[in-house]
Amino acid sequence: MKKKKILIIAVAVLVIIGAVTLPFMGYKKDSKDTKELYEENIASVGYENSIETAIPQTELYNMIKNHFTSPLAEGKTEKKAIIIGYDGCRADILNVRESESSGISAMLDIGASINLSYCGGVNFPEKNTQDTSTAPGWCSILTGVWADEHGITANDITKSLEYKTLLTSLVEDEVIDSSTFITKWKGHFDRKDATYLLEKEYCEDNALNVTFNRCRNDKASHKFALEEIAKADCSDFIFVIYEPTDSKGHNTGFSYNNPKYQKAFKDADTYAFETLKAITGRETYNTEDWLIIITSDHGGINTDHGGESIQERMTFIVSNKG
Ligand SMILES: [Zn+2]
Repeated sequence: MKKKKILIIAVAVLVIIGAVTLPFMGYKKDSKDTKELYEENIASVGYENSIETAIPQTELYNMIKNHFTSPLAEGKTEKKAIIIGYDGCRADILNVRESESSGISAMLDIGASINLSYCGGVNFPEKNTQDTSTAPGWCSILTGVWADEHGITANDITKSLEYKTLLTSLVEDEVIDSSTFITKWKGHFDRKDATYLLEKEYCEDNALNVTFNRCRNDKASHKFALEEIAKADCSDFIFVIYEPTDSKGHNTGFSYNNPKYQKAFKDADTYAFETLKAITGRETYNTEDWLIIITSDHGGINTDHGGESIQERMTFIVSNKG
């Protein structure tokens, strides 16, 4: 009898604790995450353009292609490029970067440009024509076209080979020797409905030097990227995605007001800082012509993305080549 009473009291206490703390555990709905505050924070990041003049994220395709197909500058012997992706990173959160360990600040220190870009097929406020999500975002960046052409309107759709990514086409067309894709997310090329499943098979079947590396977590992706860059003959085009911002956003809220999301951004930004250091520390760096880009695939709001809010639509492009 006594034991039963204790048990009942214990369960009652747990239920009360749960009822009191649960609503405060996540940022399921952040009423303070307003469009006004967003625009205010965007304005103090230091972007060279505005929301109205944001660059389509598909432009990254042209930037990379132009880099590799333009003539080598004097004193340079080889072209290289890297896209460092911060998955699910909002454009306003760049405001909280800590300059001594920030990849973005380090880029700005070497004269990089910083611009707002947009995902979703059309710029805000027109309603997006494709999900503001991972697969449509990165696919638009890597193919240079929107989902009405590449077909990836949402996650979990396998892309046909009609539009190949730059990772494959640049190698196939012998513009570069090799490329590397580094990510922890299975949805890119490591499950049944993965976006680049057919493209990965195509590269394997045609013995193209394009490697698709799925790592078990962000730390492992970062280690993989650093090891790749440390090789004397590293891949000509490296695409690495760091995903703390997306993971923490889904778990605790994509919000400027969320300290956990701020920390996740700083973690991704620190990875990029170390990646940048590894590149500029290469023995052959001075004779190499590197295009270095930091960007994101989409933003987020509350604990999700995919929709039409400005917080989900804006991304950013930091580039060492204007
Ligand atoms: Zn994403």
